[in-house]
Amino acid sequence: MPAEDETVAEDASIELAVPTSEEADVEVEREQDAPEPAELDPETRARRDAALRHVRKLGDPVLRATALPVERFDEALQTEIERMGVLMHDALGVGLAATQLGVLHRVLVYRAYPEDPLTALVNPEMTWMSDEQETAEEGCLSLPSVHVEVERSARVRVVAKDAGGDDLEIEAEGLEARIIQHEIDHLNGVLILDRISRQARKEAMRAMREAQSAPSAA
Ligand code: ZN
Repeated sequence: MPAEDETVAEDASIELAVPTSEEADVEVEREQDAPEPAELDPETRARRDAALRHVRKLGDPVLRATALPVERFDEALQTEIERMGVLMHDALGVGLAATQLGVLHRVLVYRAYPEDPLTALVNPEMTWMSDEQETAEEGCLSLPSVHVEVERSARVRVVAKDAGGDDLEIEAEGLEARIIQHEIDHLNGVLILDRISRQARKEAMRAMREAQSAPSAA
């Protein structure tokens, strides 16, 4: 998911934190069982911080851009997807969109649960979203320290291409559905800040500012 603003203190840069129906407070862009940053061993923390430096943060115009469809399923795309998977993993994220790395490709990767394989969706298109909505907390690697309740469809169906250009159709619910919606939003220049009330947005911005000015938010 998102990367740090040079000016933003690195602390809780979790991506989309999404709780599922079990009401868990899971962060979407952060692995579910990932320990809090303060508890990370130094090596994991260093790797996470290094990965987060590649993630664009709020204020970077690329986060507001609309990504373009991928037309060539070549080696460069494979490499790009592999890199996204590594950065997402190192950043302790559960999802990452290409735009968050400054690449305007309609590509996203995610892994909702540690035991799942990495999924890459190229040119994803939502073909169905349930009317039933669920509200859960989300974070975003591009919005350090921000955790907000976001209402989204409980279930979605998506068609996409895989890294090799083959057709994929995914039906998802719970955390997976939430991550997919969060990441497709990124491809359209939409952030979780756009999906919450003005009041919640104000509070989120304040949390970000406070984290930035904290003496040692590390
Ligand atoms: Zn995000």
